[in-house]
Amino acid sequence: MARKHPLNLVRNIGIMAHIDAGKTTTSERILFYTGKSYKLGEVHEGTAVMDYMAQEQERGITITSAATTCEWKGHHINLIDTPGHVDFTIEVERSLRVLDGAVAVLDAAEGVEPQTETVWEQANRYQVPRIVFVNKMDKIGADLDMCINALRSRLEANPIQIHYPVYQDGAFTGVIDLISQKQIVWDEESLGFEYQETEINGDQDLIDEIALHHEVLVDSIMEHDDQLAEIGYQADVEQVRAALRRTTIALKTIPVLCGSAFKNKGVQSVLDAVIHYLPSPLDVPAVEGFEIRNQEVTDHKAYRKPDDEEPLSALVFKIQSDTYGILSYLRIYSGSLTSGTAVFNATKNKRERIGRLLKMHANQREEITEAFAGDIVAVVGLKDVATGDTLCDDRNRILLEKINFPVPVVRVAIEPKTTADQDKLTQALERLALEDPSFNVLVDKETGQTLIAGMGELHLEVLVRRLYDDFNVQANVGKMRVAYRETVMGEAKAEGKFERPSVVGKGQYGHCMLRVKSGTRGDGLIFKNALPISNPLLPQYIKSIELGVQSIYQSGCFAGYPMVDVVVELIDATTHESDSTEAAYQIAASMAFRSACQLASPMLLEPFMKLEVILPEDGDMGTVMGDINARRGEVTGFTPKHKDQVVNALVPLEQMMGYANKLRTITHGRGRYSMTFEKYAPVSAEVFKNIVGL
Ligand code: GDP
Repeated sequence: MARKHPLNLVRNIGIMAHIDAGKTTTSERILFYTGKSYKLGEVHEGTAVMDYMAQEQERGITITSAATTCEWKGHHINLIDTPGHVDFTIEVERSLRVLDGAVAVLDAAEGVEPQTETVWEQANRYQVPRIVFVNKMDKIGADLDMCINALRSRLEANPIQIHYPVYQDGAFTGVIDLISQKQIVWDEESLGFEYQETEINGDQDLIDEIALHHEVLVDSIMEHDDQLAEIGYQADVEQVRAALRRTTIALKTIPVLCGSAFKNKGVQSVLDAVIHYLPSPLDVPAVEGFEIRNQEVTDHKAYRKPDDEEPLSALVFKIQSDTYGILSYLRIYSGSLTSGTAVFNATKNKRERIGRLLKMHANQREEITEAFAGDIVAVVGLKDVATGDTLCDDRNRILLEKINFPVPVVRVAIEPKTTADQDKLTQALERLALEDPSFNVLVDKETGQTLIAGMGELHLEVLVRRLYDDFNVQANVGKMRVAYRETVMGEAKAEGKFERPSVVGKGQYGHCMLRVKSGTRGDGLIFKNALPISNPLLPQYIKSIELGVQSIYQSGCFAGYPMVDVVVELIDATTHESDSTEAAYQIAASMAFRSACQLASPMLLEPFMKLEVILPEDGDMGTVMGDINARRGEVTGFTPKHKDQVVNALVPLEQMMGYANKLRTITHGRGRYSMTFEKYAPVSAEVFKNIVGL
């Protein structure tokens, strides 16, 4: 079977925003305006449309599904969901990994907000071309210029304004497209389904102003595009669009549109812009990975082009439980996939059979038999699979780069309400951890308690709620605590020896010397075999030594917290003629690793958060700042926004429990705040002493 959609007509995009900017409303409108099951006739009747949308909201299937497909002007758009709350950053990471372009939604009155910054930085890291939709233009305080300036100053972006807002009697009525210099008017009766492009409805002054804006726009694209510079100002609409497409895909420009999703204005322009300016899978570089030879992942880079004829490569970016069972969402980078066939899971080193293949639409699921390069599909029936796994052709194995999972920053103890629930709880937690890699389950070695760790209070609350709703398990949870990390700041070596001679039969012998030093942030554990070539230690014992190191790395070497970013070198080892065993080397390595870490300036790291507090003009800034200081916070700046005062700060999460209530009290309910994870950094000497007792 051949593909239905030529690749150049495919768009894999995500919508990203600070919470409340209007991501859900915009997504819903997109699905509504592209809704293929609705004939125009029905849509004219406002009530039918409203019913449809209300139901859609109630069922929520479109917005909770990890990817939805829709059609727009002959293009096939896969809309990849990126939930807004900061506690779900993994959701943003996993989406960014598989999408080719993104729409960033801003609230026209708020501009760039903390979470906009966070997702923007993430998108920069993944080099994702973007357009910006400035939403809520109907709101009092809406200010497109302020938003564009904030894109420049706070995000260091190069915004290209392509919409000019039109107001009538103070109400936002539509936009003028600065490329075509045409006005777009949305029809209210059909809830914006119908819209018209007309000549500019205004006096000569307005026409002149638009012509001026058009020139500025062409100028700013020409700066980055020689082809357009050669044509000059007489470039036609198609030529300007083509140039803006090139510069946007090259990450040099950000087209900026405006509208009001809620008032049904501007959303079709967003869809047009997705087609015009965001890349198709053909416009992005070939996906990179590592070759697998003889069952081993090698250091050799391998590439797969977005071509159906290439060997299959696909990335699992989301696991979701559903009435169908477990759905695994895949982005296919190369090759094709047929239901009922076998594939190789390169991450798990296992073969798997593809059961049913599904394409998710706004209001239905379509069973398909084959999927192609560039597609986003869901698979039912994979047995042992997790988010971030690579699926590939068994004869052409490749391991794609993993998804970057954020480290959990808070944890709580959890126990079942009744002992009968113990097994159910364990199983349910395993299942949840499989779906959400930013959620961990661990056991406190000292107390034997089960701990769950996640990205924030809300994240863990939602998961505990799901235990009850989806798995029928009732659990008690303890007090939320910060998830510290252990690391080393210096360098040291130590040896470990485990020896149990036996008079009869085989004894136990393992001995090694390890050097540890601090690693680069984000690199995790790096284990190197640095034994001299003359040392004949068998490979299985080297593996055992690595396992011994890993077990301490995961559980901590001095305070019971998982470790981060340590480089370990195996520098010496001895063997016994008859007693060497794998278990003994594992124990010897954990002893050596623990001792070396304790000598290499061990340090505790704590999560620091980026905090933004918004106060009204006459709010008491001094008290808010004093409170931040008292929480060991550091005020990093002030960015006035309209009539509000904004305080930016870096604060240790440990001090922020209960902040919502405190802020409410000191600002008499008029202050707001938001907080996003920034980094792990060393704790103060006092906190170190309190926790470690040293
Ligand atoms: P999300 O958190 O980004 O998904 O935001 P939602 O789409 O849930 O919107 C948050 C709130 O803003 C809701 O109450 C919406 O009705 C409202 N909203 C969304 N779009 C607009 C808009 O264009 N104008 C106005 N005035 N309100 C909007």
